[in-house]
Amino acid sequence: MKVIKVTPRGFCVGVISALQIAVDAAYDSTLPRPIYILGNIVHNRFISNSLKRLGLITIEDKSKTRLELLDTIATGTVIFTAHGVSDEVINQAKAKGLHFINATCKYVHKTNDYIKEKIASGYDIIYIGKKNHPEPEGAVGINPKKVHLVENTHDLQKLLIRNEKIAITNQTTMSFWDVEELAKLIKKTYPKAEFLNETCSATQVRQEAILKKAIHADVTIVVGDPLSNNTNKLAHISETRANTKAYRIENVEDINPEWFKDCKTVAVTSGASTPTAITSEVIAFLENFVYRDNNTHYQKSTLNLENILPKLK
Ligand code: SF4
Repeated sequence: MKVIKVTPRGFCVGVISALQIAVDAAYDSTLPRPIYILGNIVHNRFISNSLKRLGLITIEDKSKTRLELLDTIATGTVIFTAHGVSDEVINQAKAKGLHFINATCKYVHKTNDYIKEKIASGYDIIYIGKKNHPEPEGAVGINPKKVHLVENTHDLQKLLIRNEKIAITNQTTMSFWDVEELAKLIKKTYPKAEFLNETCSATQVRQEAILKKAIHADVTIVVGDPLSNNTNKLAHISETRANTKAYRIENVEDINPEWFKDCKTVAVTSGASTPTAITSEVIAFLENFVYRDNNTHYQKSTLNLENILPKLK
């Protein structure tokens, strides 16, 4: 089958930096033990499993906030993930006497600094992001009374802000175009609102690439974790903006041959937290795939998925 290998795809600068920080911590014998990661360092379970082999303990529970997760840690070192945390979490870690390492991505820092500056100047913030995701949790946690999380038009209808000064911004991994559209709608109600689209450049170039390439494909495959927002947005963009059916898979074993019954060309991309080796295996499988040949339909991964960390410096 013809495979369009969409570029850029895969690891972004923030993910590489967070992984480097985690691996360095694992080998740093001066750090207090145990070493915990507050949530998944990046949203990819294979990476979390691989870090576990290095002795790093990931504390994750989707029903709990970062602050609640921190409550379960009594001693040692805690690493904050690329998605960022609120000052409240940092202060609580200090109060507990924990050593902490902050792996927040520089782009998340930039958005959160913008929010802090605007609040200090008397603004309310309308923050476009995904509910129950750690990045918006960190942003709203800056000031829950002043930062209003909006995910869709339904949330917008419930919003009532009595402040002339309003700034609109967003989670770094949202769809660039969805954010633009939602911001336009918000400005109908709050025409004086200032808008800063903070979809990060790594996310934006990956989204532009899938839009450009998926138009020429019959099916899109996005390789990544179900919890990864940027991964899910790539599939969403293929379907809503390129009109190409998209399937998100974790690795080659998730592929259903029936997806390719009438397919001549498939576009492949991956989320910013997906290890390159997993995507390469998917591409090789699809290049060899022939719908009429059952022998090409299924493949067990030959990768060691419990030890899939990339080579870092
Ligand atoms: S997707 Fe963007 S904000 Fe998120 S870690 Fe990567 S570079 Fe940072």
